[in-house]
Amino acid sequence: MDQLLKCEANYAALTPLTFLSRAAVVYSDRTSLVYGSTRFTWKQTYDRCLRLSASLQSLSVSKNDVVSVLAPNVPAVYEMHFAVPMAGAVLNTINTRLDAGNVANILKHSEAKVFFVDYQYFKLAVEALHRLIGDGVQLPLVFIIDDVDAPTGTRLGELEYEQLIARGEPAVFPPRPLLDEWDAIALNYTSGTTSAPKGVVYSHRGAYLSTLSLLLQWEVGNEPVYLWSLPMFHCNGWTFTWGMAARGGANVCIRAPTAAKMYCAIADHRVTHMCCAPTVFSILLEGGPADGRTITPAVQVLTGGAPPPASLLEKIQRLGFYVTHAYGLTEATGPALVCEWREPWNRLPAEEQARLRARQGISVLTLADFDVKDTETMASVPRDGESLGQIVLRGSSIMKGYYKNPADTAAAFKDGWFLTGDLGVVHPDGYVEIKDRAKDIIISGGENISSLEVEAVLYRHPAVVEAAVVAMPHPHWGETPCAFLKVRKEGGEEGTGGVNEQDIIAYCRSCMPRFMVPRKVVFMAELPKTSTGKIQKFLLRKAARSTHGG
Ligand code: ADP
Repeated sequence: MDQLLKCEANYAALTPLTFLSRAAVVYSDRTSLVYGSTRFTWKQTYDRCLRLSASLQSLSVSKNDVVSVLAPNVPAVYEMHFAVPMAGAVLNTINTRLDAGNVANILKHSEAKVFFVDYQYFKLAVEALHRLIGDGVQLPLVFIIDDVDAPTGTRLGELEYEQLIARGEPAVFPPRPLLDEWDAIALNYTSGTTSAPKGVVYSHRGAYLSTLSLLLQWEVGNEPVYLWSLPMFHCNGWTFTWGMAARGGANVCIRAPTAAKMYCAIADHRVTHMCCAPTVFSILLEGGPADGRTITPAVQVLTGGAPPPASLLEKIQRLGFYVTHAYGLTEATGPALVCEWREPWNRLPAEEQARLRARQGISVLTLADFDVKDTETMASVPRDGESLGQIVLRGSSIMKGYYKNPADTAAAFKDGWFLTGDLGVVHPDGYVEIKDRAKDIIISGGENISSLEVEAVLYRHPAVVEAAVVAMPHPHWGETPCAFLKVRKEGGEEGTGGVNEQDIIAYCRSCMPRFMVPRKVVFMAELPKTSTGKIQKFLLRKAARSTHGG
């Protein structure tokens, strides 16, 4: 009996890599990937991934080695989602909006063995590599990802991506067998890498479960046409990189989600699905049909990464995009809650529908558990739509911890629950709505900015005595950083220490990624403080809201 109750005998590790070998059979001649005039079938994609995996292994890339990539949504990044873990290695996709210091930090912290760089980011990569040289860090092997559009000129690295694929010998170096589903498949750094890097390790198991869960929840049928408007470097494209292989979808790759590129792709390839942060809705609305026409057939859109305003949801739905709203974070292998639509809501007025759709919802199918708790007592808040608590999560798609960072790991959990830092209420129907954030982040166009990091840079300016950075509403980006400063009085105009808003902005531009730079700087004689001397950020947030960038 004992024997029968044991499952280990039949154990086979869960991994999204099996989606690809299956796709090569089931969807063999169907289109897997389209990028400009490049087109592959699933059979070809499988073959190319086997070759790349073999090539990496021939370069002595082995189990748990990190392979980093700095590139937009081009076919190579899609293929690496399979080829890198097939070689037993761990894929690290780097956010292309970071600056050289952050990129260098990630390469250093992850001890990347291989670094793939798209031609568009050569300059950034060279700067990052120079920093590594300066720090005496061993450089990774560097390979370039070329493109027909790439300008000729200085090249980086020894071999081009396609050469690596061409010389791969899968018969000599077949994929490494996966023995444990908890092995790492990807390493994703949350924004905030100017201080201690926070790398989140994704397991094969977590990625497998998250992928299936999202496909089910979003009701993705066979052979969808998926537009890559969401960067693949955001939580591995919310797992749809692996997911499209599971469904035999056609991946339509574009370098940047401009309105022209997206509408063109939608029309040319008859796109059925896409994911994006709410800020992309503004781009689609601005560049959309001016005459009130809708796009047909409707495109299914999964949105998240920042709170989508109900009014924006209403407008984008009217244009022919059918929106599903999800909430998640890097630490949860992407989406953790989804605002699952309920049939009776279809009979409500559009405005009411948009209000319901703007709620973050309920756990995705494969998340073991979620709750909204008072994190002092760890008691659940009442389901009254009013009592505020923190969203907490548990399950195998939640990270085990930050890579080589025990301090931040310890702070991220309480009683086994992962603390999201997001504050919300639970409505009587069980759906969660986010109201605020306990953590000090600003979400600009779906990218997280740590206000503490921007403050740390501001404090390094000789004129700055005190600095506090908060979110300021922005019509396109959702939020942008607004800095409140107390500066030295001496050496200049009273109260501004000889510096003005432009000086501070120029200084910030010189030492942080552009998207992190405050859009507005407010000088104050004193920053508001509590009796214990803590800066009252809620007052500054209020002030920033009323300033509204004006
Ligand atoms: P992502 O790459 O998906 O943006 P991050 O880890 O960078 O993941 O950011 C996660 C944070 O973004 C969450 O903790 C939350 O504050 C915010 N967020 C994500 N999705 C939503 C949403 N649907 N509504 C409100 N905030 C969201």
